[in-house]
Amino acid sequence: MKLIIQPFGNVPKEVLRNLAEDLGIFKAECQIKKPADIPMDAYNSRRQQYRSEILLSLCSRLDGDKILGITNVDLFAEPLNFVFGQAEIGGRASIISTARLPHPNQSVFRERIIKEAIHELGHTFGLVHCDNSRCVMYFSNSLADTDYKRKEYCKKCIDVMSRDWIPIQK
Ligand code: ZN
Ligand code: ZN
Repeated sequence: MKLIIQPFGNVPKEVLRNLAEDLGIFKAECQIKKPADIPMDAYNSRRQQYRSEILLSLCSRLDGDKILGITNVDLFAEPLNFVFGQAEIGGRASIISTARLPHPNQSVFRERIIKEAIHELGHTFGLVHCDNSRCVMYFSNSLADTDYKRKEYCKKCIDVMSRDWIPIQK
């Protein structure tokens, strides 16, 4: 199993290294690609945000069992004002944005990133939103939701996942 991390724009190297390390919970070979430019047609000047579908579709063209795009620009997808990330349900591609995740405490920032990553990857494993507010597949309306949920899939979610991607969880 190959898990590809594709940065878009200027994502700090440390963020990428930490993400790859934290994704070690999956029994997959994790590879960080060279950063790609953010396509200008993704930019909406009125909103001063980028359309997440465009980055997602670039990810879906890459090789690998699963592709996780990451960017530090703010993403949106109609009708939502912003998205923390987006993914193909049961597909291969996913994308997350760190734009709304910063926290003075770096370990909280890191925790938020891995939660969003595990959440969007969960969609590629076929998972939909979970009503358990502690489960990583709970839909985050705000950072309070993100901070409250754990970075693990609940048992109900694990039960519908493909064995290949069940993470090593405490
Ligand atoms: Zn979701
Ligand atoms: Zn769940």
